[in-house]
Amino acid sequence: MNLLVTGAAGFIGSHYVRTLLAGDAPDAPRVTVLDKLTYAGTLGNLPTGHPRLDFVHGDITDAGLVDKLMSGTDQVVHFAAESHVDRSIEGAGEFVRTNVLGTQTLLDAALRHGVGPFVHVSTDEVYGSVETGSCTEDHPLAPSSPYSASKASSDLLALAHHHTHGLDVRITRCSNNYGPRQFPEKVIPLFVTRLLEGRTVPPYGDGRHVRDWLHVDDHCRGVDLVRTHGRPGEVYNIGGGTELSNRDLTGLLLEACGAGWDRVAYVADRKGHDLRYSVDWSKARDELGYRPRRDFTTGLAETVAWYRDNRHWWEPPRRSDAR
Ligand code: NAD
Repeated sequence: MNLLVTGAAGFIGSHYVRTLLAGDAPDAPRVTVLDKLTYAGTLGNLPTGHPRLDFVHGDITDAGLVDKLMSGTDQVVHFAAESHVDRSIEGAGEFVRTNVLGTQTLLDAALRHGVGPFVHVSTDEVYGSVETGSCTEDHPLAPSSPYSASKASSDLLALAHHHTHGLDVRITRCSNNYGPRQFPEKVIPLFVTRLLEGRTVPPYGDGRHVRDWLHVDDHCRGVDLVRTHGRPGEVYNIGGGTELSNRDLTGLLLEACGAGWDRVAYVADRKGHDLRYSVDWSKARDELGYRPRRDFTTGLAETVAWYRDNRHWWEPPRRSDAR
């Protein structure tokens, strides 16, 4: 079975591919990674010379290349995206190009070549901010940043390809991921690397924004359950079960790095900052047996240790593009 995985030189996709390649079952898939290697992707995230892995350096909006790759593909897991909200606030063009046009290019090619399942990896941010309770999959979409608007658009295109053409599309919407190899512009690696360098950390506003944290291991297991056991045309929320305000998260990161609150310098809030995201993942639990397994305290300690032990991965020039 040939699996095309887009964006797998980045944080989550590379973790997913390393997990797939670690197994040696006779039916283990051959994996082709398509990645543009933007600032967020690096070949160093993937194993070298693995007999079941091919890497193609290219853009998901390149219709000719995508068509050629799709002709030899059985299934798709689509991670490639512009993924950082702050960058989308500075300029939304790349987000529309990659997240919307790129997804449509992949969907059209998958349809032409009879490829499926096509797992489209999305985000809890498409539901917008929810002050109380948790969103089930039929909650109205109310994205509020250019990033989440582009992801919601791609979700709708994916569902339209299922409804109109019968393409076997399955969508996952997950909460905030953490773990090793996340580019140090997202809050956990940004704060950890700054603390390891002896610098201050910059929480937004008053730090009361709440996010649900999901270990990348758990997310990748959820994505694969959807690929192997999900139903066509369905959306599955994947949550982590650890809700924290950014202030509480900051406290945990300070403690993990042996630093005090004197290393905290609050900055002006992000424009249009959503207060809270929360997904109800009981559908994935009841249908697929999904359940987050990684305990947050242990997962966070291991993540901090990884950044401490792998400075070559994040120190300049690699992190020169981070906030
Ligand atoms: P990332 O930014 O670490 O990696 C994105 C990858 O996509 C990079 O390797 C980049 O080179 C590649 N890419 C970007 N544009 C491309 C293009 N035009 N063509 C081909 N490749 C391209 O992202 P991530 O954090 O690993 O997120 C993966 C997916 O999960 C994204 O779709 C994102 O929206 C979604 N997601 C992430 C989180 C999170 O907490 N990180 C939460 C919810 C959903």
